[in-house]
Amino acid sequence: MIDGKKCIGILTSGGDAPGMNAAIRSAVRTALYNDMVPVGIIRGYNGLLEKNYRIMDSPSVSNILKKGGTILFTARCKEFYEEKYRKIAYQNAVEIGLDGLVVIGGDGSYNGASYLSQLGLPCIGIPGTIDNDIACTEYTIGYDTAMNTVLELMDKLNDTSQSHHRCTVVEVMGRHAGHMALCTGVACGAAAIVTEEEPMDINEMCEAIFYARSRGKHHFIIVVSEGVGETDKIARDIESLTGIDTRAAILGHVQRGGSPTLRDRVMASEMGNYAVHLLANGKGNRVVAMKDGKITDFDIQEALKMHKGLDMELYRVMQEIV
Ligand code: ADP
Repeated sequence: MIDGKKCIGILTSGGDAPGMNAAIRSAVRTALYNDMVPVGIIRGYNGLLEKNYRIMDSPSVSNILKKGGTILFTARCKEFYEEKYRKIAYQNAVEIGLDGLVVIGGDGSYNGASYLSQLGLPCIGIPGTIDNDIACTEYTIGYDTAMNTVLELMDKLNDTSQSHHRCTVVEVMGRHAGHMALCTGVACGAAAIVTEEEPMDINEMCEAIFYARSRGKHHFIIVVSEGVGETDKIARDIESLTGIDTRAAILGHVQRGGSPTLRDRVMASEMGNYAVHLLANGKGNRVVAMKDGKITDFDIQEALKMHKGLDMELYRVMQEIV
């Protein structure tokens, strides 16, 4: 409690994602609206260990809806893997006066949130990652913006590939999940999409190119998800096996930045609001999720045990429309 009011901490942790600021803004404004004190914790769990925080007011989150990145900064905090440091973080949270904590991040960050909940600080996770790789939720904040960034870049690569009758092998982010690769590949008319879930060997990639050529195509985009890697080698091998001029393009961290799309801003606003209401209602150790198009919540440990595969219906469609 601060000044006799319930106090809600907010932090961003792990990899950043566009829309995190919209979630922060929503959590801060929801707390204020409901007569609670919002506290921004700086640089993820490090901020709890260092007691690096600031009390937020309404103007402190003005004009951040459209900003990429996170005004609270984010970090990986290796100390959090050790119980000794998690106990220090918990003690610091008590001393700051926190009654609950909103953690915006990926499933790694949920582990930290779950431990803190067990120690006695109710925590709510909000899915913030461009990879959409959190099993319990159909959608993660940042996914739409990142995919639109990829699409814009792929369209440009497509233009130059077309001019030169070239093949371009494009590596997109997603860590070990192929959701970004599949969706953006469909949206840009890729000749093949290679993911860890649906791998292809080099001969299958060449066959896909020959198939597309048999349908009248002279330029080809092959989308490779980050976890598959070896993008340069794939490009070299395609060129030597097909004789088609082939280039590799690794899109990299540009995919993490930029102003969030409408979808990310709205989703982040809804999830930030929902998380604070869970804490206000005495809930903890929960994660906010979208299920069947509706916002809901799950126990963090149950959420971490869930599994999410690729959208195989979309994969099938892609194969038929090359
Ligand atoms: P993300 O949240 O994007 O999946 P990470 O996996 O890097 O990113 O996790 C972010 C941070 O969450 C870590 O640096 C660490 O502080 C905390 N964390 C991750 N996994 C655990 C764990 N098993 N136990 C405690 N804390 C964890």
